[in-house]
Amino acid sequence: MTTLPRIPFNRPYLTGLESGYMSEAMASGALSGDGPFTKRATELLRDTLGTQAALLTTSCTHALDMSAILLDLQPGDEVIMPSFTFCSTATAYALRGAVPVFVDCRPDTLNIDESLIEAAITERTKAIVVVHYAGVGCDMDAITAIAQRHGLTLIEDNAHGIGATYRGQGLGTFGAMATQSFHETKNVHCGEGGALVFNDLRFLHRAEIIREKGTNRSQFFRGMVDKYRWVDIGSSFLPSDLLAAFLTAQLESFTEIQKERQAVWSAYHEQLAAWAGENGVAQPTVPEHCQHPAHLYYLLMPDLGHRQALLAHLAERAVQGTFHYQPLHSAPAGVRYGRTGSADGCPVTDDVADRLVRLPVYAGMRDEELDRVVAAVLSYRVA
Ligand SMILES: *Cc1c(COP(=O)(O)O)cnc(C)c1O
Repeated sequence: MTTLPRIPFNRPYLTGLESGYMSEAMASGALSGDGPFTKRATELLRDTLGTQAALLTTSCTHALDMSAILLDLQPGDEVIMPSFTFCSTATAYALRGAVPVFVDCRPDTLNIDESLIEAAITERTKAIVVVHYAGVGCDMDAITAIAQRHGLTLIEDNAHGIGATYRGQGLGTFGAMATQSFHETKNVHCGEGGALVFNDLRFLHRAEIIREKGTNRSQFFRGMVDKYRWVDIGSSFLPSDLLAAFLTAQLESFTEIQKERQAVWSAYHEQLAAWAGENGVAQPTVPEHCQHPAHLYYLLMPDLGHRQALLAHLAERAVQGTFHYQPLHSAPAGVRYGRTGSADGCPVTDDVADRLVRLPVYAGMRDEELDRVVAAVLSYRVA
């Protein structure tokens, strides 16, 4: 075994300004939600995405939960989404009694296969939720047209896609709503956090109520009502201003964070290209009209055996690789609460979920760490 220091899969980046801002928040005495730093972080987020309105939430999962409440889903209503995603995308809608309908992904970008969406639509379908995998935009031309044609609400789970564009337009600005994650594994973070983004402002008013335990407290603070009352269902979805202070520091450094992540991503992409070609390994596909935010770097190995073997090979060299996602359509809760959109299941999802390896990507990665990851991969041969 090696005695080299371990290179983690993710190392939460700190800009250095977080603790100063958090101290400021503590000194101000405004520690609960919707304080001055929440305003600052929300403005920065809106500018970063190019959207009109956003509400900070305690997580992306909670933002998805809010979107499900806002859609007024009834038991048995259906929501179309990819199988190849994190379980939060599905559980938010299942929680409202809706049925997640899982659609396979494209073999190139691993995004939802737009050509399979229409066959999954029934008279119970209410919404389409897309996930921009690795921050590479889904085919929004096709998907926006399908949603319009069938009168369905479009939602973007944009947990990976902060700052990315599709044909020059920011991800997170296509759907009626979009969700962001500020979990420590995401490009910009505050440990745990998220946001619900509004491109259709009709949802905003009720969203403020749902986020504040079903009360009209936001209107009360704006002086629009003389007392605040319980007016709707909701929960406590707003983060403390302490977390918003942390997030403000991160969002202010977005450009620098992205520069560092892009450098790591590009180094992998260039330095592993020849090796990938010789070994039958696929590198990420990024269509020309998509700019991605270097959220993650993955390799698609020839088969499950080589995936497991590469992960072990990396671990022996103190490099932590990982894999994901466990397909949702065949997960225990996916089977219980959801269904697949087509009779033959999600064969591409099953295939790529077996073959995918993620390499460490984080801002603040040192050159010698990057070199060690590259060397560890290059020393693996597909026999
Ligand atoms: C990380 C992630 C989530 C969950 O984000 P949280 O902020 O941890 O709730 C949801 N969807 C996708 C695609 C993610 O990557």
